[in-house]
Amino acid sequence: NMQVIFRDYVSGFPKETDMEVRESTMKLRLPAGSNGLLVKNLFLSCDPYMRTRMAKLDIPGYVDSFKPGSAITGYGVARVLESGHPNFKKGDLLWGFTGWEEYSLITAPEACFKIEHTDVPLSYYTGLLGMVGMAAYAGFFKVCSPKKGETVFISAASGAVGQLVGQFAKLFGCYVVGSAGSKEKVDLLKNKFGFNDAFNYKEEPDLDAALKRCFPEGIDIYFENVGGKMLDAVLLNMKIRGRIALCGLISQYNLEQPEGPYNLMNLILKQVRMEGFLVFDYYHLYPKLLEMVLPQIKEGKIVYVEDTTEGLENAPAALIGLFSGRNVGKQVVVVSHE
Ligand code: NDP
Repeated sequence: NMQVIFRDYVSGFPKETDMEVRESTMKLRLPAGSNGLLVKNLFLSCDPYMRTRMAKLDIPGYVDSFKPGSAITGYGVARVLESGHPNFKKGDLLWGFTGWEEYSLITAPEACFKIEHTDVPLSYYTGLLGMVGMAAYAGFFKVCSPKKGETVFISAASGAVGQLVGQFAKLFGCYVVGSAGSKEKVDLLKNKFGFNDAFNYKEEPDLDAALKRCFPEGIDIYFENVGGKMLDAVLLNMKIRGRIALCGLISQYNLEQPEGPYNLMNLILKQVRMEGFLVFDYYHLYPKLLEMVLPQIKEGKIVYVEDTTEGLENAPAALIGLFSGRNVGKQVVVVSHE
């Protein structure tokens, strides 16, 4: 059983060498009487929140740190080989928390979702049909309280979550602008995902000016994925009674000292609501996401771009690539195609 082992707690930027890919000789089998599952992992999801799990965490209600010396855990798509749980049988497909290894024992199958619709690419269950889709759905429709015709700005807009928020907002009838870190990503935003406008934040050091150009009348909704300087510039450009959904702050995850934001007074002056959210709180809405998005995929109204890395041995590089913007779209690792 090939595994990706977490070596030890990390400070600063994570490196490939913080993980080690090695063969485990331990035989994996479902213990007698267990109500768990033995699964074969097919696709693994690389997610920015995994960086927070590389530090020693003690946050009630949040996920645990990775355990030094043990396999990394995270979202994935897997096939059930043996089941001790009434919800699953041999051969079923599921998405949920699994291990970064070829085969895993899942001890809490009740937290996994059975995959019922297999006429779409299975890897989508690491993205738009999984946790990421739920974050985009709940963050936009529930936290942002959108109205048709409003102006929406999304940072890290070509990524796993951002590309979906932009498409949801466009289909809902909003004016949508995104920022991303390369020309290729900006082209995707405008030409593939149908954003009204987009800019490369690495080439526009004056973020305030870029936002004023894209939103001469201001921003109603900001879907926050990056934090830091971008959040500060957005605060200067929010409209009265705007909403900011704090989904993530990826620019801050590897810093010892967080930067800003400094322009918080704007929240008061413009009566803006800024709200953080965790996707885990919204999983009861998963059937609603599927109901909305499955037909949209089939009708071609929603597209999804994935960045696929083949092989567990390449998973550490894929994960740390999120923090340099190496990924174009949702970063997926293929462990096995069947
Ligand atoms: P992405 O697919 O967008 O990948 C990360 C991207 O972030 C990179 O490609 C890069 O894009 C950008 N980035 C990396 N470092 C920086 C930096 N220093 N400054 C600005 N941008 C940077 O990731 P996801 O879509 O999966 O996640 C997006 C955000 O949503 C993350 O902050 C994540 O933590 C959060 N999240 C929160 C959830 C919740 O429950 N609240 C659930 C899921 C995700 P570029 O080239 O454009 O810079």
